Amino acid sequence: MSTGATAANQIGYVITPPEQATLSVAGTAERFPVHRVYCVGRNYAAHAVEMGHDPDKEPPFFFQKNPDNLIADATEFPYPKASEDVHHEIEMMVALKSGGEDIAVGDALDCVFGYGVSLDMTRRDLQGQMKKLGRPWEIGKAFEMSAPAGPIMPVSQVGHPDQGEIWLKINDEIRQTGDLNQMIWKTPEMISILSTLFTLQPGDVILTGTPSGVGPVQRGDLLHGHVDGVGELRVRVV
Ligand code: MN
Repeated sequence: MSTGATAANQIGYVITPPEQATLSVAGTAERFPVHRVYCVGRNYAAHAVEMGHDPDKEPPFFFQKNPDNLIADATEFPYPKASEDVHHEIEMMVALKSGGEDIAVGDALDCVFGYGVSLDMTRRDLQGQMKKLGRPWEIGKAFEMSAPAGPIMPVSQVGHPDQGEIWLKINDEIRQTGDLNQMIWKTPEMISILSTLFTLQPGDVILTGTPSGVGPVQRGDLLHGHVDGVGELRVRVV
């Protein structure tokens, strides 16, 4: 037997495998393993307008962050390199326990494990440059620690929130406000549409878009996010 041989049930790796990205789950020590992170763009009409777009004409569009961009139980957000204009976007996150392709809207909520509060932190200057050039958004969106997140609240505890306030304060001053019922594409629709484009998997996480009021953060700021019935997130920019 060669020294590199391993039993079929004992895989050898040429480098140390990366750690599985996880989120915490309220009420249990067990973790939620993250597969992919899908983000929905311009999903609140007022935010689409503030970004210079007509909300009525646009079908939903998606981009991704990396699973390990999530900061589970975040208390700090390190101001990232390569940007002078980092923006907050408060968002409800949806965590899937099952997936599939071409999921009907009426079946979509059966895929949901739970909901949480998250931030889609954005290097707006880099995103703007990429938009202007018609290039992908990754350098603006999918950077290290770009998605501070709270614990996932299981559906068994919070149901399927589809209305209620979503807001973000900075240093106790309100910056973003909206209501989940203002989402242009609702949670079941987002899951259904995503499943026509990708094979959704258990462990997939969806960031459902942000209400209006996005703006820059500074080191030292305390970001306090809230989603009715889902929870709170308090993150210091360091
Ligand atoms: Mn966003």
